[in-house]
Amino acid sequence: MKYIAYCRKSREEKDKQILSIQAQIAELKEYAKREHLEITEFVEEEKTAKVPGREKFAEVLKKIEKQQVSGIIAWHPDRLARNSIDGGKIIYLLDTGKLKDLKFPTSWFENTPQGKFMLNIAFGQSKYYVDNLSENVKRGLRQKLRNGVYPGKAPFGYINNPKTRGIDVEPEKLRAIKKAFELFAEGNKTFTDIAFLLHKFNLKRKNSKPLHINEIRRILANRFYVGIMEYNGEYHEGTHKVAISKELFQQVQKQLEFKDRRKKRRYNFAFMGLMRCGECGATITAESHKKFYKGTNRTVEYIYYRCTKKIKPCNQPYISEPELETQFRKAIDDVALPETWAKDWYKWLDEDEKLETVSIHENIEKLQTKLKDLDIKLNKLLDCYLEGIIEPDVYKNKKNEFFEEKLKNKTKWFELARTFQKLHW
Ligand SMILES: [Zn+2]
Repeated sequence: MKYIAYCRKSREEKDKQILSIQAQIAELKEYAKREHLEITEFVEEEKTAKVPGREKFAEVLKKIEKQQVSGIIAWHPDRLARNSIDGGKIIYLLDTGKLKDLKFPTSWFENTPQGKFMLNIAFGQSKYYVDNLSENVKRGLRQKLRNGVYPGKAPFGYINNPKTRGIDVEPEKLRAIKKAFELFAEGNKTFTDIAFLLHKFNLKRKNSKPLHINEIRRILANRFYVGIMEYNGEYHEGTHKVAISKELFQQVQKQLEFKDRRKKRRYNFAFMGLMRCGECGATITAESHKKFYKGTNRTVEYIYYRCTKKIKPCNQPYISEPELETQFRKAIDDVALPETWAKDWYKWLDEDEKLETVSIHENIEKLQTKLKDLDIKLNKLLDCYLEGIIEPDVYKNKKNEFFEEKLKNKTKWFELARTFQKLHW
């Protein structure tokens, strides 16, 4: 009988007990000599058997299918298969009689119902080992998240503690991060300014240069600094030390948005988008012109508005911004509310305010109950997920929904509490 020898080791198999491909070849040669087996060729493959789709393995199966060889030699069953599809293919070839024998130096096999049963277990065990390994890793990560510990690399200002497996603070760096948030919130600092500031505090790239501005943007938008961990698209509350207040974080987010908007449209013309040409109905565009006056040594910016004339020819000339403002005022005056109505408006507003004071207290209580409810729901959801009652995707979506709601309610609660305080001072 002719045998084909299949040797496999993937790069990700760090296990020292698994021989290298060269060592497997040597072992199989010696084994074949001892057992008087004829090996026609050695097939080497450097791929994982955790998932189907190995090319060399498929070729081996094809050769057996075509009855060019009728036996396989491998160092251990787990070299052949570590997933149920490839394991099933081997068993099926044995069942149909095209594969007549398997030989393993490390494991006994006989082509009998018992032998196939044992083989199935050997393949299954490999799969169990693989499943178990990744399940344990996942469970470890999940447990960390549940404990409020970020399972990934700690962001700037923090450091992973390999002993406690927690996340510690690097005080000096975290102070620098805080300073960066504070400066950026003021609104007149660029990403590059922040990069240079952080560089002074030893927060830099591997090549010692200041951090890239994209990295600065990521830092300034990272909710980790206010105690929220984002992992795999899910939000979790962290137990690490919070670096900055939610208010400061919000201010910085506003600045980031502002920078984005300004990038999109460099000029922010006051009256843009509010009107169309009175003659032809086309949209109005604006332009800015700068003029330098030597006498007074200053530059003055003039803003003009004009018809785009995109619909049809139109005779309307340019108009300056102050002129346009006059036109606008006149147009608004024509539709404004009469003076006498104002008194009634104020009366209504006063009454609203009185009603609000009463309801604020009720609302605060309601929100507190709602927050507690959400916590209970979140915990139940996690239990359902861990017990396998709901799918990971469903869990993820629902959880983010709850979490967003919780954040919203918390913010509302803070606002209400603050208003309440003011009213009672
Ligand atoms: Zn026009």
